[in-house]
Amino acid sequence: MTCQSVEELDAIVESKLREVDNKVSNGNVDFIKQYLIQAMNYYDKYRSEIKKIGPTEKNPKYYCFQEAAYVNYKASQALLRERIPKLPGFGGYKSAYSKIYRELIEMVEGQEHEIAQIKSGLRKNFCDDTLVLRLRSLKSPSATQPKSLPDSTPTSQFKPKPSKPFSITINEEYISVDQLSRLLKTNPNDILLIDLRSRQEYDVYHIEDGSGVDMSICIEPMSIRNGYTAEDLYQLSMAVNPDYERRLFKNRSQYELLVCYGNYDNEATVQMFMTIMNKDTSLKRRSVYLKSGIKGWNQDLSFQDSKPNGYLTSTTDYFSNTPKHTITPKSSKSSSKPTLKTTVNSGPAHTVGINNLGNTCYMNCILQCLLESDKFVSFFLQGDYKKHININSRLGSRGILATGFHLLVLLISRSSGKTVTPSSFAKDVSTVNKNFKLGEQQDCFEFLDFLLDSLHEDLNECGNEPPIAELTPEEEKLREALPIRIASTIEWERYLKNNFSIVEDVFQGQYFSRLECTVCKSTSTTYNSFSSLSLPIPLDRQNVTLDDCFQAFCSVEELNGDDRWHCPSCKKKQVAFKKLGISRLPSVLIVHFKRFQVKWETGHIIKIDKFISYPFKLSMDKYWPKAQSEEELRNLEKLPSRNQNPPFNYRLTGVANHFGTRTSSGHYTSYVQKGGQWYYFDDSAVTSNVDRHKIVNGNAYVLFYRRS
Ligand SMILES: [Zn+2]
Repeated sequence: MTCQSVEELDAIVESKLREVDNKVSNGNVDFIKQYLIQAMNYYDKYRSEIKKIGPTEKNPKYYCFQEAAYVNYKASQALLRERIPKLPGFGGYKSAYSKIYRELIEMVEGQEHEIAQIKSGLRKNFCDDTLVLRLRSLKSPSATQPKSLPDSTPTSQFKPKPSKPFSITINEEYISVDQLSRLLKTNPNDILLIDLRSRQEYDVYHIEDGSGVDMSICIEPMSIRNGYTAEDLYQLSMAVNPDYERRLFKNRSQYELLVCYGNYDNEATVQMFMTIMNKDTSLKRRSVYLKSGIKGWNQDLSFQDSKPNGYLTSTTDYFSNTPKHTITPKSSKSSSKPTLKTTVNSGPAHTVGINNLGNTCYMNCILQCLLESDKFVSFFLQGDYKKHININSRLGSRGILATGFHLLVLLISRSSGKTVTPSSFAKDVSTVNKNFKLGEQQDCFEFLDFLLDSLHEDLNECGNEPPIAELTPEEEKLREALPIRIASTIEWERYLKNNFSIVEDVFQGQYFSRLECTVCKSTSTTYNSFSSLSLPIPLDRQNVTLDDCFQAFCSVEELNGDDRWHCPSCKKKQVAFKKLGISRLPSVLIVHFKRFQVKWETGHIIKIDKFISYPFKLSMDKYWPKAQSEEELRNLEKLPSRNQNPPFNYRLTGVANHFGTRTSSGHYTSYVQKGGQWYYFDDSAVTSNVDRHKIVNGNAYVLFYRRS
């Protein structure tokens, strides 16, 4: 017996690729990237599902997942091998572009063995499976033969219970959030919900009816095409949907009302779906779409559901920490930079515990502190991040971490106070950086550094711009003569040419490092960005304050002996002074105490257990170099200031603590301020209303200050 199913799956791949080609030829080149990320993510997801189930079990899902893995793999491979090399501009940026491309190809080709197994599994298993019949019908979608498609459950079982009359009248082609939420309460069995977003988004959250039985279907936007009939949706678009969903859709005529909804960014899909359903004469009444999509549903529900959740004690708490705001354009001054112009709305406060997956407290304590930054969280929560993912960013994770972080934030915001388990995020982290493999304790600061760096690169709009040219020695001399404020601003504008992301916007500042030759007095200054400052701890003092640590960071160090500086003017090694200084301050200032030091004599790492006091309110003005003259001020006005205007007042919002003597062991917790009160997060345990005097403690390791 010849089995055709693999070939039929190939036909699905072909049709997906044609869709990509259409979009690209219509000028939507980015679509190819989006689709590639999606296909690769899906492949990965289904692959791990297949592994979870194991090949021996007679689980129908197993076949579905094999199909899906195969289709997504083939599509990725074709995009990488055939489509992308033909894109205009592929030859450009040779070094950077081709490296990423090569890595992607290697990643995909590395799966050849696994896909061969899946393929042979498909060939073997599908011969006597009902899926074969289903897939065979794909060949002639117009000549549908519903009778030949067996459904394991008789239709009658799916007949909804006799329904109450609708409590509201629906005349329009849409339904409001309010109407839908009322209908779901009064007539839960009469409504079939159709979610027109990706499966990934659907899995994280979708609208459920009040019956307790999930009567909703996910139809991916990618799979709906112009000119389809409702039967085509069933046969083609839903070819790899779970059987349960397929049965719901097949029995759609028994529901009083079909309600579909999408994201704010796929209205076209919703319209296309509505057009298809309007031609479906079997329905009891005209289908409707949810007017403001899933976003409107979420927003309205959070207002309706004003009862306190989890650790929130009042409605005020619920909103106090999440004002409506926009990510403001960086500067009104002339600048060729793109701006993060995106409107974000309030999200819920995030005061839930996070389960420890085996030594992942280092991750949890940092996540709790980061979740305090509502600007950062809203960016991921509202899906704005998607528009900013840059798969070509030279140093990024091709969107894996940004997507993972988005899903984690969603999970937390949907948790209604219940503890969350961040397994998929932890998996993403360990995929991107092998140092953070599950089960091993890590340094929470290294994790923070890695996370912010990777998110920055994933979302770096300029991550594939050619690197800016280094200054020539002459230019460097000119810059050296400039006042520090001016030089810092120019350097920042240069930096932004290659770096522009939400991470940069919220967390990044700049410090300078200046070397001065003690003989000829010539200097050389470099400007560097930072997402956090690592401060040394002065050991010669009894009572150490945060201020002492900043002073130590900025103190002048003499380079002598082997450390002497090769002075470009003297053209030989000279004793030199080295000084670090902060030149630009971010919205959220992260400070790390260098508690772990290598003891050179023994090579051991020791922890400096000193108590360091730190203020709730911090002024950074004295560390920020001011303009020295009227002329400098006038010149500065011609440059974008990007929030570099004093005063720089900060308030403490988070403290990550480390207990123990080594980073590779011990425990991490955090204090975070939300809505005016302090919380203590110890993995899944959350304590609210923590006394202020506990916040400044001897185990503090990383501090989070937010600019007022
Ligand atoms: Zn010199």
